[in-house]
Amino acid sequence: MLGQMMTQPLLISSLIKHADCYHGQTEIVSVETDGTVTETNWSEVSTNARKLASSLTALGLEPQARIGTLAWNNRRHLEIYYGTSGAGFVCHTINPRLFPEQLTYIINHAQDRVLFFDATFIPLVAALHSHLTEVQHFVLMGQRNEDAIAQVPGVQFYDEFIETGDAGFDWPSFDENTASSLCYTSGTTGNPKGVLYSHRSTVLHSFGSNTRDVIGFSAMDVVLPVVPMFHVNAWGSPYACAMSGSRMVLPGPDLHGEALVKLIDTYGVTLAMGVPTIWQGLLAYAQESGSKLETLERTVIGGAACPPSMIETFREVYGVDTIHAWGMSEMSPLGTANHPLSKHAKLPIEAQHKLRESQGRPCYGVELKIVDDDGNELPRDGETQGDLMVRGPWVLDSYFQMQGQDLLQDGWFATGDVATLDADGYMTIRDRSKDIIKSGGEWISSVELENIAVAHPKLATAAVIGVPHPKWDERPLLVAVKADGAEPSEEELLAFFDGKIAKWQVPDKVVFVDALPLNATGKVLKRNLRVDFEDALTG
Ligand code: ADP
Repeated sequence: MLGQMMTQPLLISSLIKHADCYHGQTEIVSVETDGTVTETNWSEVSTNARKLASSLTALGLEPQARIGTLAWNNRRHLEIYYGTSGAGFVCHTINPRLFPEQLTYIINHAQDRVLFFDATFIPLVAALHSHLTEVQHFVLMGQRNEDAIAQVPGVQFYDEFIETGDAGFDWPSFDENTASSLCYTSGTTGNPKGVLYSHRSTVLHSFGSNTRDVIGFSAMDVVLPVVPMFHVNAWGSPYACAMSGSRMVLPGPDLHGEALVKLIDTYGVTLAMGVPTIWQGLLAYAQESGSKLETLERTVIGGAACPPSMIETFREVYGVDTIHAWGMSEMSPLGTANHPLSKHAKLPIEAQHKLRESQGRPCYGVELKIVDDDGNELPRDGETQGDLMVRGPWVLDSYFQMQGQDLLQDGWFATGDVATLDADGYMTIRDRSKDIIKSGGEWISSVELENIAVAHPKLATAAVIGVPHPKWDERPLLVAVKADGAEPSEEELLAFFDGKIAKWQVPDKVVFVDALPLNATGKVLKRNLRVDFEDALTG
């Protein structure tokens, strides 16, 4: 016997319909590519999304045609999220920081039919234009622009393009499992791979992230997604914020500390989201300028391990609660978020703080387990570490156009991370499996050593890598960037580890560099460091 409830597909258009109907006047602040600020609201975003959907439909593209974007976090990008998916097309967000060859590969592989781009990327699109064999329409996200006309053959303009559309466009209904959006992973090895989300997975992920112990966006929140809309859909915030009717502040291209602090203070941001490297700049500027980040209540930090010293600074200096979260493109991306359980309220305050350092627990919808090399499940004792496996309705089943490959192991996706789980489900990432340091048969977590090193006041940032060693196979090397004006010695940096970890885990050596190499999503390219310092302990 079937239940007798309405069958309504979970569609992305339902999110914008809800925001329009119940939060229409709620503001969206958008920093445009030229630095000017536009104030719009969910109703106007909805109207423009409908017009865009109507104009795109009139192009006669095939169902689920991919529509590419090369764009910052701004209102037109938000309208494109809804106008494309809502009309049954696939919103393909592209990371503009990738190399031109990778961009060409990705845009051709995805077979993007339309490419929307911000003015910043006019020269980039001009250079790629003749290689993009599948793109039929190049659309600059703005008004008529002479630069674009001169450089990009046949270019069209977003503001004119949507004016040909109908604001009364009816969102079509279709199967909730239809593809909605596409993101390629950075591809640290081989070609980038596409993760193809569905309407159903996106709506369920929004419900998940809107639960209180994940992020729990609210209609009272002013949300600043610093994480780019081209990086796993800004962690799903454009969808989840429409569901909750939150105000949004879309920061545009300038993500330096000064610009972000000003946005927080001017627009009363309560909740900000981004990777740790972004917050280093923000905290440095807040300190310099004397801003107290008065309105900020919560930060969601993930994408790379958040150092405990950063969580502490936010808490002690600014009264901001950090939600340390973990996830990946293949998981839409939310996997875990760190919040306490009721029993923890009785613990001493230091123990409560300590608990908040790990990557946290999965919410309903995500299952985790750790396994050994043979796939046997390992104990959840907070000590044993193993390969982290996940499954759930917003975890990928296969990569885009690679359906035939058997990606899963007994229905679980191998994350490539090495982690511990405790009895309550708190997960600690020890490392990515390729970054863990294997010293004389023992494993050393580079993340743990980095967390200690970056708390040293004379360092701006640091990374730890394993380098070849004649006796121990590999030993840890600390690659350090000095803080402005500071002159730390190797001895004092190494002494800083004393008493914090076992002696045999202390790095063998320190090398100083001016900056760490970062990949397109702002993560340290340890692969490059391993090549550069291969001979550090043998040469
Ligand atoms: P990629 O960087 O490969 O493109 P993602 O951006 O999806 O992929 O990053 C996913 C990876 O980032 C995770 O598998 C994990 O290694 C790392 N990561 C994400 N959040 C955290 C975190 N809070 N702590 C440690 N590592 C994290």
